Amino acid sequence: MRKRNQHVTIIGGGLTGLSAAYYLKREIQNQQLEVELSLIEASPRLGGKIQTVRRNGFTIERGPDSFLERKESAPQLVKDLGLESKLVNNATGKSYVLANDKLHPMPEGAVMGIPTQIMPFVTTGLFSVGGKARAAADFLLPAKNINGDQSLGQFFRRRLGDQVVENLIEPLLSGIYAGDIDQLSLMSTFPQFYKVEQEHRSLILGLKKSTPKSNQTYKAERKKGIFQTVQGGLQTIIEAFEENLSDINLLKGTKVLDIKKSDDKYEITLSNGDKMESDSIILAAPHTVVPAILKDHALFDYFKAMPSTSVATVAMAFPKNAVRMDQEGTGFVISRNSDYTITACTWTHKKWPHTTPDDQVMLRAYVGKPGDQAIVDQPDDVIIKTVMDDLKRIISIDVDSPNFAYVTRWKQAMPQYHVGHKEKIKRIKDRMKDVYPGIFLSGASYEGIGLPDCIDQGKTAVQHVLQFLSE
Ligand code: FAD
Repeated sequence: MRKRNQHVTIIGGGLTGLSAAYYLKREIQNQQLEVELSLIEASPRLGGKIQTVRRNGFTIERGPDSFLERKESAPQLVKDLGLESKLVNNATGKSYVLANDKLHPMPEGAVMGIPTQIMPFVTTGLFSVGGKARAAADFLLPAKNINGDQSLGQFFRRRLGDQVVENLIEPLLSGIYAGDIDQLSLMSTFPQFYKVEQEHRSLILGLKKSTPKSNQTYKAERKKGIFQTVQGGLQTIIEAFEENLSDINLLKGTKVLDIKKSDDKYEITLSNGDKMESDSIILAAPHTVVPAILKDHALFDYFKAMPSTSVATVAMAFPKNAVRMDQEGTGFVISRNSDYTITACTWTHKKWPHTTPDDQVMLRAYVGKPGDQAIVDQPDDVIIKTVMDDLKRIISIDVDSPNFAYVTRWKQAMPQYHVGHKEKIKRIKDRMKDVYPGIFLSGASYEGIGLPDCIDQGKTAVQHVLQFLSE
């Protein structure tokens, strides 16, 4: 039977914690539960990695800039928050891979770099004849049944060869995970590709069969892109959360220092010296925080060893007439072996026209790669100059510096799901049911780093809390 006056605390006010708070509040209201809800955020602002700057008609994302529309939880959340009319899809356009000092159009029909159409792969200048022949071996190679996990690199190199991996798959995946493809876990990132291999043997043939038309030929005809954001930037979502959650106990600028079990409750110690009691907790802060606040147990040793990588985003504004691009498109990624510091660049004014005044250009570059993140620690002017030098090798920029630039360092911010991650998380979560009943881990460190994955995890944590409180 449900107890009265229960208290649930959410730790971390990034997208995961805010989604959990929003959906839990909705359930409390719908089910008329006597549950008090608190959210505690260490920084003075909500949103975590979501940070938007609005300046003179520009909308500048310092962290994430969009989410995949087909992962339904994100557009659904935007609708739930009453922001549906503000949803914007990206403008479609060619994207490129920089390899051998040349921008090559992304081969049509590539799904995460895996071909689903033959001709664009046959004709692309991204790979040598030998590289293409090696990729074609995918048609013949048997499926390899692996009991457990393997790295993305191991999997894709075996199926498609090193060239396709280094010139296409790696730069695309690095753009998402900022990690080393030869260490990242297949089962924690793209288990569907393993399934395709088991079911169809050939990745190319399997994906061709299983990929909806929308991702293949139809893509060229579509007017809308596959990513979405909202007008005013992703911060608009955070502002809507803040308004919606104004009636819960929301503490900003307050860090959780410690959680201790006391009888059938938890005692939470805050950085302002206060202590509070809670029946259940959603821990939606990065994994590095967990062993620091749940100190009693060796259970979280994996989190002490689990790495996170550092990147920086560099958003730069130029007058339109100062930048000339020979290629029409929305941006490029850079192949693994190229001698550039930047790893990718979005032509933001093209991909998201609503973010940039008509007479301006906005470029957003990434720096920091696995094994070489020292650039992220350099002063702003050094980073900007490095990015400018790289960009000038690729596109024509007639000025020495941008009108303005925002350098945002994301230190140890990209959690790395190395081989075996999924199993380790499952084991930890299973053990927590006995050791810390009622505490639930949720967020980018565990089961998906994309914004929709974070929303999904927040929602799942809400279901776990409700189940726990009713036991
Ligand atoms: P966070 O946003 O990290 O929030 C955790 C919160 O916990 C923080 O606010 C922190 O201050 C708080 N906290 C920490 N310790 C404590 C404590 N002791 N007490 C209280 N609070 C605490 N994903 C996409 O889908 N699309 C993209 O375009 C995209 N681009 C990205 C670009 C960059 C540069 C980065 C860094 C990430 C990007 N991602 C993208 C990934 C995505 O942004 C993140 O995975 C997601 O925002 C993480 O949300 P979260 O709530 O789990 O964690």
